[in-house]
Amino acid sequence: MAEKANVMDKIVALAKRRGFIYPGSEIYGGLANTYDYGPVGTELLRNIKNLWWKYFVQGRSDIVGLDSGIISHHKIWEASGHVAGFADAMIDCRHCKARMRADHLLENYIEAMDKNALNELISAYGVKNRDFSKALKTGKVEGLSLESLENIRANLSNLSHNPLVCPNCGEDDWTKIKKFNLLFPVQLGIVEGEQGMGYLRGETAQGIFINFRNVVDSTRVRLPFGIGQLGKMFRNEITAGNSVFRTIEFEAGEIEYFFDPEATEWKPLFEEWKNAIWDFVTKQLGIQQSNLRWREHEDEERSFYSKRTEDMEYKFPFGFKELWGLAYRTDYDLTQHKEASKKDLTITDPQTQKKILPHVIEPAVGINRLLLMVLADAYVEEENRTVLKISPKIAPYKVAVFPLLANKPELVKKAQDVFKLLSPEFMTAFDDRGNIGKRYLSQDEIGTPWCVTVDFDTLNDESVTIRDRDTTQQERVKITDLVGYFTQKLQS
Ligand SMILES: [Zn+2]
Repeated sequence: MAEKANVMDKIVALAKRRGFIYPGSEIYGGLANTYDYGPVGTELLRNIKNLWWKYFVQGRSDIVGLDSGIISHHKIWEASGHVAGFADAMIDCRHCKARMRADHLLENYIEAMDKNALNELISAYGVKNRDFSKALKTGKVEGLSLESLENIRANLSNLSHNPLVCPNCGEDDWTKIKKFNLLFPVQLGIVEGEQGMGYLRGETAQGIFINFRNVVDSTRVRLPFGIGQLGKMFRNEITAGNSVFRTIEFEAGEIEYFFDPEATEWKPLFEEWKNAIWDFVTKQLGIQQSNLRWREHEDEERSFYSKRTEDMEYKFPFGFKELWGLAYRTDYDLTQHKEASKKDLTITDPQTQKKILPHVIEPAVGINRLLLMVLADAYVEEENRTVLKISPKIAPYKVAVFPLLANKPELVKKAQDVFKLLSPEFMTAFDDRGNIGKRYLSQDEIGTPWCVTVDFDTLNDESVTIRDRDTTQQERVKITDLVGYFTQKLQS
């Protein structure tokens, strides 16, 4: 466990030191659960987004794109159920004022409990208190009512040997558990009260549902079809660290795939989407299959309108965690918006003239979480170096160009010519600091797949040395062949 935590610490340190991820608002002491992306992190994030778009939108004739607003009408979120139900159960420590998620507090406590004490409690309480004994047995409290959570909390606080105390200050002095809504309200203009109230979107999906009519009317889509969107979303939640795994502001890639449940069976469609996601993560992002698995949601954790939800999980250094959610949301959202807006949100079948309110399957992923997975999966410590074996398709820089010696103007000039040749085609780095060995190590740490060195022979034979990041093997290639060489490598 200590060693695994250590790996995460190393990845976080590397990400900061080499310009992938910085803590948010750092020069003012930081702002919890926010992060900024540095020069190489920005490239990696953009490459992942572009690949997502290319695979799921550009590459499919049945999916179109959308870019809806971040600031949105309060009625959207009332209709969708977010204003009423999009909430975490929170508890405050009266002594040190720390606020935390009640479910995490209880689950962490149960996980750390002595197993004998745990079994004694289960036999003592098993009959009288079903929720309590179930929480002790499974270690899970998700989906329980506030009353049940409060009851479990009180039972654990009352234990004489090991009462449930604040992990921050060690005191046992709690407020009641309360619901805390995750939507960020925004006050618009000068209008006071509800009329002037909007929300930062809590998911990009709602932007798709409210534009369903517009897309149907302005394009030639026919069922089944999808609308895909990349963009920021906001959740005012308290998180448990782990870098960008969970943050209050993050970028999502969401698709709503609309279909007529009378014409298309949802189960095979659901399987098709599982396969598409698996293919994208393993073949496009190059993630090791052994670190991935699917997990189906149990009844309690699934939204009431969902018929099936499965998560693809990735084995992060801190355990298997949700990466990509796949949910069959039925016609819940379109029905809600149809009723709240009084607009016709059906689509007409051109053959039968039948009016259809489609159902949806929703694949939804956090792009920042994909990025953290890519870093974790690519991180390798070898005897003499640390290397990020990122798939060349998404590596921040594809190529780095070096003059063998920085103090030889003819070599520097030639290397600059090679940079100018490559940079319009590929994200290319240029480095003439230090010795060649140090430059290789520096590029290895940010995952650059190939380094090109201009040496004295280059001036005669118009060839350069290409060094491969993963094998460290070198080969000699003509300058005129370089663009074709890398293009071919990136396609394979
Ligand atoms: Zn406290």
